[in-house]
Amino acid sequence: MSQRFSFELHSTDGAARSGVIQTPRGEVRTPAFMPVGTAATVKAMMPESVRATGADILLGNTYHLMLRPTAERIHDLGGLHKFMNWERPILTDSGGFQVMSLASLRKLTEEGVKFSSHIDGSKHMVTPERSMEIQRLLGSDIVMCFDECPALPADDATVAKSMQLSMRWARRSREAFGDRPGHALFGIMQGGVTRDLREESAKALIDIGFEGYAVGGLAVGEGQEAMFGVLDYAPGFLPEDKPRYLMGVGKPDDIVGAVKRGIDMMDCVLPSRSGRTGQGWTRHGSVNLRNARHKDDPRPLDEACGCPACRNYSRAYLHHVVRSDEIIGSMLLTWHNLHYYQDLMQGMRDAISAGRFAEFEAEFHAKRAEGDIAPL
Ligand SMILES: [Zn+2]
Repeated sequence: MSQRFSFELHSTDGAARSGVIQTPRGEVRTPAFMPVGTAATVKAMMPESVRATGADILLGNTYHLMLRPTAERIHDLGGLHKFMNWERPILTDSGGFQVMSLASLRKLTEEGVKFSSHIDGSKHMVTPERSMEIQRLLGSDIVMCFDECPALPADDATVAKSMQLSMRWARRSREAFGDRPGHALFGIMQGGVTRDLREESAKALIDIGFEGYAVGGLAVGEGQEAMFGVLDYAPGFLPEDKPRYLMGVGKPDDIVGAVKRGIDMMDCVLPSRSGRTGQGWTRHGSVNLRNARHKDDPRPLDEACGCPACRNYSRAYLHHVVRSDEIIGSMLLTWHNLHYYQDLMQGMRDAISAGRFAEFEAEFHAKRAEGDIAPL
């Protein structure tokens, strides 16, 4: 196993790329989907089950963990990997996005962000330096720069000012991160949906130098067309030999479109969150298991899926446990959804290696256009 963090690009097909990130905690096959383990757990899943779906890496949320149980406590207990029983790579976000979306009484200054906890109202301040310290205490393998992300739509002047602040914070993050062999720091490109600002942000980040680069500030309400519009050019501003991470994306069709445009890593709460609300994602689109049409249906959610929910249970059973608010309903649908997402990633990795990504994409859209199987 590598003792260093590195990225090998294996194949490209158009702008789509497949490769491997090597870390001391194991490899991450790209394009990669990272399930979200917000509070040191992927909700409704045991870590070994998350691994069984094919996940190589998890995402942990700095904001949640710093408030409860605190980064210091996790560090004293041996770090996040040991604490949550996940020995493979973990990426942590910087806390910035969730401070801005969840905390109250926020005050943004050049120094950082002061805020009150959404849990108990306690006062905190996160700066680039504090974010680096928290992520180091957690033991994160891939650390994200502390940044600020304006809600879209916003005017160019607002987006530019915010992006330039994030670039100053990126430099402070790099300096505070220090020299930590085996661990990586990723810079985050900002600039909204404005090409010149995206390019300016990419240049500023490359000048600082990072082990990987995220495309930030998307999936914040701009819509898929605007997001793909940015992804048509933004990955091209980033170094070819470093991983590119699209934060907070997304639905299966967002993911396929992002990989097509040169993205290597993604994360989203969608497969786990929708698993807890009775929604299953399949090759045919999304299926609402609450719907009465499933109550007498002995067929699996997806007969082509190898997950436990599809191998061992009927749609009728899933419908019953979802409608009865039984915990196993969340467990089975989360497992299925994460399995489906990882199958999708494997399908794309294979297609890129074989030089048939365009065919893969056409089949993906054709299956979804068919819709769910007809009721019995
Ligand atoms: Zn399944």
